[in-house]
Amino acid sequence: MKQFGLSIWGDDNFIIEDDTININYASRPSLLQITKEIREKGYKGPLLLRFPHLIEKQISTLFKTFAKAKKEFKYKGGFHAVFPLKVNQFPNFVDALIDVSKPYDYGLEAGSKAELIIAMSKTPIGAPITVNGFKDKEMISLCFIAAKMGHNITVTIEGLGELETIVQVNREFNAHAHTSVAPKIGVRIRLHSSGIGLWAKSGGYSSKFGLTSTELLEAYRLLEKHDLLEQLWMVHFHIGSQMGDIAPLKKALREAGNIYADLKRRGAHSLSAINIGGGLAVEYSQHPHAQERNYSLDEFANDVVYLMQEIAKQKGVEEPDIFTESGRYIAASHSVLVAPVLELFSQEYTENGLRLKAQNPPLIEELYDLYRNIKRKNAREYLHDALDHMESLLTLFDLGYIDLEDRSNTEILVNLIIKKAIALLKNEDTDELKKLQDRIQEKYLVNFSAFQSLPDFWGLAQHFPIVPLDRLSQKPTNPASIWDITCDSDGEIGFNRDLPLYLHDIDVSKEEYFIGFFLTGAYQEVLGMKHNLFTHPTEAVIRFDDSGEYTIDDLIEAQDLMDVLDDLDYDTGVIDKTLKYRIEESDLITAEEKREMLGKLYLYLSENSYLKTIQAINENDA
Ligand SMILES: *Cc1c(COP(=O)(O)O)cnc(C)c1O
Repeated sequence: MKQFGLSIWGDDNFIIEDDTININYASRPSLLQITKEIREKGYKGPLLLRFPHLIEKQISTLFKTFAKAKKEFKYKGGFHAVFPLKVNQFPNFVDALIDVSKPYDYGLEAGSKAELIIAMSKTPIGAPITVNGFKDKEMISLCFIAAKMGHNITVTIEGLGELETIVQVNREFNAHAHTSVAPKIGVRIRLHSSGIGLWAKSGGYSSKFGLTSTELLEAYRLLEKHDLLEQLWMVHFHIGSQMGDIAPLKKALREAGNIYADLKRRGAHSLSAINIGGGLAVEYSQHPHAQERNYSLDEFANDVVYLMQEIAKQKGVEEPDIFTESGRYIAASHSVLVAPVLELFSQEYTENGLRLKAQNPPLIEELYDLYRNIKRKNAREYLHDALDHMESLLTLFDLGYIDLEDRSNTEILVNLIIKKAIALLKNEDTDELKKLQDRIQEKYLVNFSAFQSLPDFWGLAQHFPIVPLDRLSQKPTNPASIWDITCDSDGEIGFNRDLPLYLHDIDVSKEEYFIGFFLTGAYQEVLGMKHNLFTHPTEAVIRFDDSGEYTIDDLIEAQDLMDVLDDLDYDTGVIDKTLKYRIEESDLITAEEKREMLGKLYLYLSENSYLKTIQAINENDA
């Protein structure tokens, strides 16, 4: 895996120079430097770094690419986009997104009342808001309120019941109104073609959402009957997220395009937009043979524009405005999770750990000779001998002929021989060597929770690129598996022979080593679980000023222990009093010890759940 697959997933956002991975922008600071600067302010544990310039890049690339496609095909319809809030609703993200998207007519998409409130207060007046998902009367009323504020808002009807509610709410809001104002109406269509991949359920005939042809015709009749047909202006579909293959999108576009043209010819004169939802995929892979996406944004935009134009031409209708609701594509790259390695397991397998005796069993003496004399040309033979000896020695132990120290020496020597053999034979990519890597994999205990910060890894086996923040001029040699600090065995990113990850051999008692998890900006934060009560990590926004230097803004520290308990509705006042009372009433400690302990308790309660690194412990002791 050359440079941790950066050229596959990195999109030129980062660059490896000398030892470190740097931001490929402005003054090109290293992630390590930014991390250290934040930690020097006293923030320990994992850090979530946000980069607004990467949000800006995605939005501008989306708009530029569609502008280019429109120009190429002389397409007459417009292009618009909204950000689906469910992908990331965190204020540091949304505020940055609104800020960097000012030059574009970029809006927000809401799928629940709380998201709608964010959209109504954050979207600039005039930029589009779309509202999808199931809605009750209150939610539809909120859409009318937004329209009356002057928002350019479209309510997408997901079922006929919603349409009846719209008719009713329209009467309530507009019967006696000074001027009649209503949100624009979209219809979500239930596609015959379906999405693919892990998220396929959003599209297709068995989808949760959308109107069938029969319902669509009934909706048309109802809109006409209630004088709302001129509000109908958008046809909407969404085929599912992380669409790896472009083929299902093309099918969906043909289907939706024909529905658009048909409704328009039937008399829906205001109908003038087609909303293609999200689904634009992100390349998460670090390995060429495991790439997740088979198309480029150019191809995507060209297909959409071309197909819409073809259908409009065939059916003799105007070319529709195109809307997208891509979320993952906009948000994924903007954040990096940085987490310190706390410990390496299997470090006992060093030469120092050997307990050789004056008189060792002959097979152990032989193992020791193999270890000392292994060379490139004999590596394979010596390796096989070592594995053979190990089998015999373990049998001897079971039969009581050798003791625990001999067995430990066997483990260590065989492990060291495997490591040496792999290093010597590194140019031979055989299955045998790959299998042996499983045996010598190093377990990196990392100060983060996979449940909190990479929930799609836990739930869907989604891969996220992993790169250490420094030592990048050295070849990493340890086949690595990553353990998080939850007490759950699912919190492990195991070593995978087909998608191997190698990390550096380090001594964490002497030096810090940080792991970066990339492309975590979409879905992970709000889906993150507080398993074991590990909460959202400390976050910061990294901006670049005119001189190209970075600033660390909007720092939000991970919740402290009492806040976490308060969120679960514990009465933290009572907990606090009880703890103090129990210290004060204890007859196991002196008055002076009590004072000291109350001080410590006060400090600990103000900190977050994540562990302190070994470094930090030393600092505190000093
Ligand atoms: C989830 C969702 C999106 C965003 O999908 P991505 O794959 O993140 O681009 C867009 N539109 C609707 C209706 C959605 O439900």
